[in-house]
Amino acid sequence: MLARTAPIPLAMRRVLPHPVGMAQIDNLPPLREVIAAHGLDARKALGQNFLLDLNLTSRIARAAGDLSGSDVLEVGPGPGGLTRGLLAEGARRVLAIEKDARCLPALAEIAAAYPGRLEVIGGDALQVDPLQHLTPPIKVVANLPYNVGTELLVRWLTPPSWPPVWTTLTLMFQKEVAERIVARPGSKAYGRLALLAQWRTEARIVLTLPPGAFTPPPKIDSAVVHLTALPEPRFPASAKTLERVVAAAFNQRRKMLRAALKGLDPQIEARLERLGIAPTARAEEIDLEAFCALARDFG
Ligand code: SAM
Repeated sequence: MLARTAPIPLAMRRVLPHPVGMAQIDNLPPLREVIAAHGLDARKALGQNFLLDLNLTSRIARAAGDLSGSDVLEVGPGPGGLTRGLLAEGARRVLAIEKDARCLPALAEIAAAYPGRLEVIGGDALQVDPLQHLTPPIKVVANLPYNVGTELLVRWLTPPSWPPVWTTLTLMFQKEVAERIVARPGSKAYGRLALLAQWRTEARIVLTLPPGAFTPPPKIDSAVVHLTALPEPRFPASAKTLERVVAAAFNQRRKMLRAALKGLDPQIEARLERLGIAPTARAEEIDLEAFCALARDFG
């Protein structure tokens, strides 16, 4: 655990030398110093695993593509490592929402170093919808707290209408969650999240990080997923019906479709046969196109 120390005045901290080998992407102090100065010992309940290597945070920012013409939403900036990467890589404007009030003074120092380009909202990203405060084109970039990451992703993937207000999502997850987002039929990781993500986005893993990249290190690997919103879904279907069919199929993923989907239609076997889908297949063998055909058939 890091000791709490009295904050070092900003002017003094700016002139402190950076440790040899650390990236110098701005004139702000190294993150270890920021964390010590503001007493930001990591809290597990807030999913706090910080990235302190600014080379790495700049790399994640670059994975989001050209930021110069975009507003960026960042959820959970913490001490600001990724925020600094985003600003140094030229984001037009960053709006960051952070639940931990202890981080706000550190983030205010970053805002002061990039006048007019960083706004920080203290609050819970599940309660506030900051997307409406931004000007398109909008990119979402975040090292998400593990406990709310999937819920936020699902919300971003299910807006009231498509295309969404954002153009890309570049998000760090536990690697196991990242694999569920990009999974293909036939794999263990394939399920509702893969179908939801791949129906209307191009999703790929762009970076995998070992526990040691974070402070404190989590128990497992992490990965950054980059999702690009498609102008329209890959195959037509009603979002609600598709979700209902996919949920029913995967709620009992070990069962054959004719059993798993019986609750949706007592005549499901005939319906599946008519659509050319084997009633004896299991959900994990069915691709997105077939699920969309089934959803359309339900109307
Ligand atoms: N972006 C920083 C980095 O990469 O070092 C911190 C990432 S850390 C994995 C997740 C951050 O999200 C923490 O700063 C935590 O306080 C914040 N957080 C947790 N739950 C949140 C919520 N519901 N809304 C907004 N921020 C949240």
